[in-house]
Amino acid sequence: MAETWGLGTRCVQSGWQPKNGEPRVVPIYQSTTFKFDSAEQMGRLFDLEEAGYFYTRLANPTNDAIAARINALEGGVAAILTSSGQAASFYAITNIAGTGDHIVASAALYGGTFNLFANSLKSFGIDFTFVPNNASDTELSAAFRPNTKAVFGESLTNPSLEVLDIERYAAVAHAHGVPLIVDNTFPTPIFCRPLEWGADIVIHSTSKYFDGHATSVGGVIVDGGSFDWQAHSERFPMLTRPEDTYHGTNFSESFGNAAYHARLLAVMMRDFGAIPSPHNAFLTGLGIETLHLRMARHVENARQIARYLAGHPNVSWVRFPELETDDQYALARKYLPNGSCGVVSFGVRGGREAAMRFMDALKLCAVVTHVADTRSSVIHPASTTHRQMSDSELKAAGVSPDLVRLSVGIEDAVDIIADIEQALSIG
Ligand SMILES: *Cc1c(COP(=O)(O)O)cnc(C)c1O
Repeated sequence: MAETWGLGTRCVQSGWQPKNGEPRVVPIYQSTTFKFDSAEQMGRLFDLEEAGYFYTRLANPTNDAIAARINALEGGVAAILTSSGQAASFYAITNIAGTGDHIVASAALYGGTFNLFANSLKSFGIDFTFVPNNASDTELSAAFRPNTKAVFGESLTNPSLEVLDIERYAAVAHAHGVPLIVDNTFPTPIFCRPLEWGADIVIHSTSKYFDGHATSVGGVIVDGGSFDWQAHSERFPMLTRPEDTYHGTNFSESFGNAAYHARLLAVMMRDFGAIPSPHNAFLTGLGIETLHLRMARHVENARQIARYLAGHPNVSWVRFPELETDDQYALARKYLPNGSCGVVSFGVRGGREAAMRFMDALKLCAVVTHVADTRSSVIHPASTTHRQMSDSELKAAGVSPDLVRLSVGIEDAVDIIADIEQALSIG
């Protein structure tokens, strides 16, 4: 039944179908622990011989219900919530890569992801090669090494709004025997489902449109179940060799096409523990119930504002992939035919100084370190989220000094435009 539901119905109903007399709304299981009648039964859970709840760091019914809802939207085999989008990126990589391994990633990444990859994971001994988001097949292939374990990219990049050619990236990744991991935070599954284009694993920062109201930091990892780990067993020993801490369980043999997910839960969560609180998961789930309605409005407003900005003399350039003049337009038609997201990036004429003056003059749109919630907001990535980057790294990430990232909310477009109008006239 649930597989045939439309996306809107999945947003509202997937993940929690109560039985007779049970709460209609997914309850908040605010409990670290779960009671058992016998020590023996609990022992079987520890050995992964039985599924069940025993400690919230490993699994919690509220968290699982919301993960299942997201899994239904993305079309995966299983999903797990994490305490942040950063934790999701960290786990997605380190679930299959360790010291001595290598990852190929698009250079156009969220600033936090870039720092994680280029600095923190590098210090753990995982090497990254960053390629231009529009790298040709030859360029992409040249980035691979014998120890490459995955390819990583964002379906619609934050903040530079470049569209990933998912089908092509997936084909090259698979030709080299590794999975494609896609961060699908900006379009959400309402507008893009990377698994349908050949991606193998999808991650999100649920802090953005999923929550949608800026209440809860969170992340999720969806296992598409499509990658054949066993066929590349030498490359992925973490999934295809016996795991000593579970009496020699072999994830690939025991969990089949959900092996990647099983290890995330049984090893990554057990050892690193970045779970969300059930209360945050509940709020995220509440947000998802209106995701389909909000995304439609975000995008409708963003289209109007992008067109308005494109015609303004104090704006030097506008990046919104749905503008026909945008160099991402063709890719957006293919991967985001029904909409992209509510984010519009643009340059204020006069460069960095003018951009900061414009932001200070806004009244309705707030200056906040956030994106993708109901309230319109702006940020200056070069001096905030991406400030660690060198000029050449900024360029590769598609972030210029005059770039303002406007996250268009779901207010009335006319009011947002009026606010931009008065702020641009000051500059
Ligand atoms: C915000 C964001 C992240 C990081 O997520 P947090 O929830 O802030 O940890 C990762 N990827 C993208 C595309 C983001 O926008």
